[in-house]
Amino acid sequence: RRPKNFRKWGSTGVIFGDVAGIEDAVEELQELVRYLKNPELFDKMGIKPPHGVLLEGPPGCGKTLVAKAIAGEAGVPFYQMAGSEFVEVLVGVGSARIRDLFKRAKVNKPSVIFIDEIDALATSPPVPVPVPRLVPRRAARQGIYNKSTNYLYNAATQERETTLNQLLIELDGFDTGKGVIFIGATNRMDLLDPALLRPGRFDRKIRIRAPNAKGRLDILKVHARKVKMSPTVDLSSYALNLPGWTGAKLAQLLQEAALVAVRRGHESILQSDMDDAVDRLTVGPKRVGIELG
Ligand code: ATP
Repeated sequence: RRPKNFRKWGSTGVIFGDVAGIEDAVEELQELVRYLKNPELFDKMGIKPPHGVLLEGPPGCGKTLVAKAIAGEAGVPFYQMAGSEFVEVLVGVGSARIRDLFKRAKVNKPSVIFIDEIDALATSPPVPVPVPRLVPRRAARQGIYNKSTNYLYNAATQERETTLNQLLIELDGFDTGKGVIFIGATNRMDLLDPALLRPGRFDRKIRIRAPNAKGRLDILKVHARKVKMSPTVDLSSYALNLPGWTGAKLAQLLQEAALVAVRRGHESILQSDMDDAVDRLTVGPKRVGIELG
């Protein structure tokens, strides 16, 4: 149940009750909420505050949703950016954005910083291109030639590294920002720069899995609350028969079913509307149109 003064808190508006099918992850993340609600208590008790959390898992399974729920449950501000928003060729822009993000979060602590697709910002550096000995003069003047390795780095690689370094500096200096939780999310763990995974940067790595049949049913139930569903619809048959469907796809299914129901003049979503919506999301509306027509 949503707490009474929920809206007033001006947080994300999402709570753990909106998240389904990933109970084990939610359980682990509860501690962050306890911390955000009362950082001083952790301090007083001598408990090391949680630092950073890395959420890893396939797209559309609830990483962003669960991060928002942490802030929503604690009623604290949520600062969200995507890793790709930091990747700039203009020198210094990415790192300035990182500094600004952490500064805002610290001013308004307790708070949550969430960086989605963190792999875009923190991928292992591409192998630099070796250059012949005579080429680098100009490159050296531009500061993109590394004399010790005799490698030429392109400007984008260099900028990406500067940005990543800024993030590492912010994460390492987190003690000054007590009360701020940093959450990163990725579906390409293999691409992450090892520097980011070094102990002390993320103290928790949590896997957000694609839902199983029970998880899919729970997700359907959560989203069915937001639409008008006929009680005759058997959601469990959809949960069983749609293996591989993510939370995002299941949410989309109910939205699509609601649209079909409206188009057909139904007052609530019927089984036939659901079936049609499944077809549309599986093969696309055009093919369904041809088959039906
Ligand atoms: P990406 O990696 O593409 O950013 P993500 O894992 O962050 O994906 P979300 O953005 O959290 O996925 O999910 C998109 C939407 O799908 C959510 O806003 C929600 O409506 C629905 N959804 C996804 N997972 C769940 C879930 N476990 N429970 C309830 N709804 C979910």
